[in-house]
Amino acid sequence: MAHYDLVIIGTGSGNSLLDPRFAGLRVALVERGVFGGTCLNVGCIPTKMFVHAADLAAVPSTSSRLGVDTTLDGVRWTDVRDRIFGRIDPIAAGGREYRQQHPDNANVTVYLGSARFTGPRALTVTPNDGSPVEELTADRVVLAAGGRAVVPDIPGLTEVDFHTSDTVMRLDELPRSMVILGGGFVAAEFAHVFSAFGVAVTVVNRSDRLLRAEDRDVSLRFTELARERWDVRLERKAVRVERAGAGVRLHLEGPGGAESVEADSLLVATGRVPNSDQLDVAAGGIEVAPSGHVLVDQYQRTTAEGVWALGDISSPYELKHVANHEARVVQHNLLHPDEPIASDHRFVPHAVFTSPQIASVGVTEQEAEERGLRWVSATQAYGGIAYGWAMEDTTGFAKVIADPDTGLLLGAHIIGPQAPTVIQPLIQAMSFGLDARSMARGQYWIHPGMPEVVENALLNLPLS
Ligand SMILES: Cc1cc2nc3c(=O)[nH]c(=O)nc-3n(C[C@H](O)[C@H](O)[C@H](O)COP(=O)(O)OP(=O)(O)OC[C@H]3O[C@@H](n4cnc5c(N)ncnc54)[C@H](O)[C@@H]3O)c2cc1C
Repeated sequence: MAHYDLVIIGTGSGNSLLDPRFAGLRVALVERGVFGGTCLNVGCIPTKMFVHAADLAAVPSTSSRLGVDTTLDGVRWTDVRDRIFGRIDPIAAGGREYRQQHPDNANVTVYLGSARFTGPRALTVTPNDGSPVEELTADRVVLAAGGRAVVPDIPGLTEVDFHTSDTVMRLDELPRSMVILGGGFVAAEFAHVFSAFGVAVTVVNRSDRLLRAEDRDVSLRFTELARERWDVRLERKAVRVERAGAGVRLHLEGPGGAESVEADSLLVATGRVPNSDQLDVAAGGIEVAPSGHVLVDQYQRTTAEGVWALGDISSPYELKHVANHEARVVQHNLLHPDEPIASDHRFVPHAVFTSPQIASVGVTEQEAEERGLRWVSATQAYGGIAYGWAMEDTTGFAKVIADPDTGLLLGAHIIGPQAPTVIQPLIQAMSFGLDARSMARGQYWIHPGMPEVVENALLNLPLS
C-alpha cells in the first residue's frame, strides 16, 4: 500500500492544481481515460473547433441576401477532423508525458487506471493495462473526476451503433443523415455542425421546445429557427431503437401517436451525470446530492475530512470556466489551509455555440418571477442597431433584466451573432456591481459595433 500527501483523481481541471508550490508533497495523479479530461479531448475545445469550421460552411446559406453569391464546394470531413485532433491529441499526450517524465514532477506518480474508494481517504486503482490493483491512502484527496454522457434506457439502443459526444467527432466519414436525441446544448451545437456540413439532421426532444433551460423567449426563438433548418420532433419519447440497413430506426411516441425516424447515424445527447457513483464515494464517507453531484461547501470541501471536490463531479453548472475557478480555490486552500478562500458562484455565465449563438448570465425572467424578485426587463433586436443592418440580422436580440430601483443587473440573455463575446461587458457589470444606467452612459460604445445591442437594451430598461 502506497501512502501520499495528496491524491488527485482526474486530469481535466485536476491536473492544473499542481505547480512548483506542491514540489514538497508526495502526489499521486490518477487518470482512467485520456489525459487532460473532457474539455480538451471531447468537450469545449474540439466542439468549438468544429463549430468554427461549420460557421464557414454555412456562409453560402446567408450571404446571397446581402448580394454576395457564394457556394460551398465541399467539406473534407477527414481533413477537418484531423486538423482538430492533430492539434489536440499531442497536447493531451504532452501533458501526460510532462507529469510522468519531467524532472519538475519528480514528486508526482501518475496512475493510469480507475480509482475507487474503499474507506476514508483510502482507494484502489485498477490499472488500464491489466496489471494488479494498487492500494493508495492519502492525507488529502481531491476529486476532479468529472461526469459522463447519459445513455438512456431505451429498448434496443445498446444493440445498434450509436454515438455520444465522446465518439461522434471522430467519425470515419460524414453520414448522409443523423438523428440527434436530446434538446440541450450538446444537441444544439452538433445539430449546427453536422447540418452545416451537409448532413440531414433530425432532432428528437421530449419537451415542447429546445434549450428549455434558457430564458423562455430565447428558447422559443431558437426552436423556431431550428425548425427552419432541421427536422425537429418535439414532445416525442423514443420507445425503441433498431437497425435499419446500415443505419438506425427510432420508434417515437408523441402527441400525434406513433411514428418512426431513420438515419445513417444516431447521436445520443440526453445529458450528463457526475462520476461519483463509479468512484463509490460513499465508501469514502463523501455525501452526494440526489443528482449525484458530490456535496461541497463554499471552500470546495466535501463532507469527508481532508477531501475536496471541484468541477463537474460536484458542480451543477458543469462548465469548464467554473471547474477552472474551483480548481484555483482548491489549490489555494490546499496550500493555505488556515486562510481558505470561497468559490464565487454569483454570476456564472454560459454559452451555446450553435447557430445563432446564445449566451446567458444571471436569472431568466421566469426565475425572477419564481423567486419573487422585483425586476424589469428590456429587449433590443440586433436588427435595430447599425451592425445588425450590416448583417441584415432579423432574429437576434439581447434581453437585460434589472432591479428597477437600483438599476443593478439581475440577468442578461442574448441570441444572435457573437453572443458569447457580446455578453461579456454585462458579466463584468454584474460581477463588479455596476448599475445599468452608469454602464450605458458612463462609457463610450464603439459605433457601429455589435455591443451597441447591449447599450440600447440597457437604455430601454424602464428603471424607476
Ligand atoms: C460536448 C461537450 C461540449 C462542451 N462544451 C463546453 C463549452 O463550450 N464551455 C464550457 O464551459 N464547458 C463545456 N463543456 C463542459 C466541460 O467540458 C466540463 O465542464 C469540464 O471539462 C469539466 O472539467 P472537470 O475537470 O470537472 O472534469 P473532466 O474534464 O471531465 O475530467 C475528469 C477526468 O477524470 C477522469 N476520471 C473519471 N473517473 C475516474 C476514476 N474513477 N478514476 C480515475 N480517473 C477518472 C476522467 O477520465 C477525466 O479525464 C462541454 C462538455 C461536452 C461534453
